[in-house]
Amino acid sequence: MKLNELLAQEKMTLSFEVFPPKTDTAFASVRSATEAIAELRPAFMSVTYGAGGGTSQYTLEIAKNIKARYGVPTLAHLTCVSSTRDTVREKIAQMREAGIENVMALRGDLTSELAASDRSQWPYRHAVDLIREIVESGADFCIGGACYPEIHPESANQKEDIRYLREKVDAGCSFLTTQMFFDNNLLYNFLYKIREAGITVPVIPGVMPITNAKQVERAIALSGSFMPQRFKALVDKFGTSPAAMKQAGIAYATDQIIDLYANGITNVHVYSMNKPDVAMAIQRNLSDILG
Ligand code: FAD
Repeated sequence: MKLNELLAQEKMTLSFEVFPPKTDTAFASVRSATEAIAELRPAFMSVTYGAGGGTSQYTLEIAKNIKARYGVPTLAHLTCVSSTRDTVREKIAQMREAGIENVMALRGDLTSELAASDRSQWPYRHAVDLIREIVESGADFCIGGACYPEIHPESANQKEDIRYLREKVDAGCSFLTTQMFFDNNLLYNFLYKIREAGITVPVIPGVMPITNAKQVERAIALSGSFMPQRFKALVDKFGTSPAAMKQAGIAYATDQIIDLYANGITNVHVYSMNKPDVAMAIQRNLSDILG
């Protein structure tokens, strides 16, 4: 199923993100974690892509498996940073062959080495270049792109970030998924601004349940997200007790999701980090809401 069809429905839904293994030996355990999440029958599952190759072949393998065995629609991520045209074209052909219907087109993060290199000759300098390549390939994918309620860390300001976001949508993105955020007001404000800028495609908020104190530092370093005082207090109080922190983190994410639904959002994407127990707990907390 194409995600633009799913997102056109008014029903409230939940979807989950999983990531492929970083090593070949971890494949079996990652696959079983993704299958346990698929058994929850979410609206769809996204499978991230390891920028720079490595174990990137597993993205397709996991996405194919989830779709074939559980009938769960999948969204396969693809990055283009420092890739050659041949590599990207080959990846697009493989996705087509695998029967993938939805692709998340991303640039990928720049390592400090890549950031310092001469990027003028790269065939894909931004996600928009990948989106154009996918559209030109003639493949009938539903294409998604990333967006940043708290602006992308490399952007000079939000106006510029939104201008480039509009370019991605105009190039062929049918929906956008957000970076994680911990204060819903930041999302509502962002939605207002992008709608004003003429971006009308569905926006899927991405919610990250923080279930251990270490994850907090990683999440902030990765996303630069603002931590509201309410969230900091929770980490201060429960951070040293793994079970209590997990319960509090799941409750915080659930609360965020309920507020999003209450304010008219229909699909929420949960960064479930290959943790079936966390995905299951959130889904259970929302069982009567999701119906
Ligand atoms: P872009 O849209 O290219 O934006 C990057 C920066 O360039 C922004 O500052 C933007 O304003 C600017 N920009 C955009 N277009 C132009 C232009 N034409 N001219 C000048 N400046 C421009 N990473 C992975 O490696 N694998 C994944 O699977 C993955 N999944 C993700 C899923 C989501 C929902 C999100 C939010 C992020 C994900 N990432 C993933 C991380 C992502 O690769 C990084 O955030 C990366 O730094 C930016 O990717 P992008 O596609 O948003 O880039």
